Amino acid sequence: MPGFELFGEQEKKEVQDVLDSGVLMRYGFDGVRNGHWKARELEVLLAKRMQTKYAQVVSSGTAALTVALASAGVGAGDEVIMPTFTFVASFESILAIGAVPILVDIDDTLTLDPLAVKNAITDRTKVVMPVHMCGSMANLRVLRAICDEHSLLLLEDACQAIGGSFEGKPLGSYGDLGCFSFDYVKTITCGEGGAVITNNKEYYTNADNYSDHGHDHIGSDRGAESHPFLGYNFRISELNAAVGCAQVQKLDSFLEIQKNHYQIIRTGLEKVNGVTFRSVPEGGVENYSFLSFFLPSEELTRKVHAALGENGVDGCFYWFDNNWHYYRKWEHLSNLTSLGNLPKEVKDRLPDYAKTNFSSSDHWMGRTISVLIKLNWTKEEARQRADKIAKTIADCFN
Ligand SMILES: *Cc1c(COP(=O)(O)O)cnc(C)c1O
Repeated sequence: MPGFELFGEQEKKEVQDVLDSGVLMRYGFDGVRNGHWKARELEVLLAKRMQTKYAQVVSSGTAALTVALASAGVGAGDEVIMPTFTFVASFESILAIGAVPILVDIDDTLTLDPLAVKNAITDRTKVVMPVHMCGSMANLRVLRAICDEHSLLLLEDACQAIGGSFEGKPLGSYGDLGCFSFDYVKTITCGEGGAVITNNKEYYTNADNYSDHGHDHIGSDRGAESHPFLGYNFRISELNAAVGCAQVQKLDSFLEIQKNHYQIIRTGLEKVNGVTFRSVPEGGVENYSFLSFFLPSEELTRKVHAALGENGVDGCFYWFDNNWHYYRKWEHLSNLTSLGNLPKEVKDRLPDYAKTNFSSSDHWMGRTISVLIKLNWTKEEARQRADKIAKTIADCFN
């Protein structure tokens, strides 16, 4: 997955442009920036690649989620439906605006189970937030229908699946709003960065203003701009955006490499009895950043994961035990352990996640292993890796 593996001359050139002018900020200083507007350029490139009218680049993927929610008017006490398998950023962004994260089960897509979403809808629900984990997507067609029926927003977290698509549309562009992360370990990176994409002009304008203290960005005197509403600072710096300008232009070549390497690993594992693969909704094309598969029992999966480590196969994840990606280790969320007091709406309305039954999620996660697909492997290395993983699994069955 990581774009940092293929970092080079193009990135250096883009960053050098910024260093040469010395204008590290994305707004203002028109006269001295030598025509370089890297954040703006990245937005144009992204909107084009993602086939949306608008893109707003911000300081991180977590910031993108927060800005996306805020831009659509989500606030204190509103409920946002999210999956049990994701990254902590999902509930962090929801809590940041005083909204309430409503966790629901995943299914064999390793993303939101549409039936669980349906059952979780209340009169306070505002948003359904599918998270396209590990390179593949939620069933967006079904989720779109549910959202339309209940007048809810569909906000796609495509941070781990940039470049994948559903029914011909780039992931992130199918919903009302979509978010990407360009942190250091994502498919393309800015070092730190993120983006919101949308076709909705009002959400875009709100996102643009909100992420810069509420500046309306009208006129050419920053200090004289007015502030139509309260905002915050989620700006990206020109240095980070410059890296993104180079990386986004490499996205399709990264995807092609990932697809080839994924196919090699998958072909190797298809020969192993007892291995089944994560389901990809009809109409979906993965970004191939991971290959995720199921084994018949939790016990066997633990055994295989340990054996892969002992055999020196790096980049194999057993998310079921992971501190950051699965609800079982989120006791800071279930206990609401925070530095300061939290909004009353959150304290009153957060379900008791220490007691919630997520056995359907556990049924899948307990048996899932994800293999990170790297860009730097040679074909031969990928083949050897496939053989090693297949042999390790077969040995564990015996
Ligand atoms: C990385 C990630 C984020 C947050 O991105 P940052 O840029 O690290 O803040 C959000 N959601 C998912 C699914 C992610 O993997």
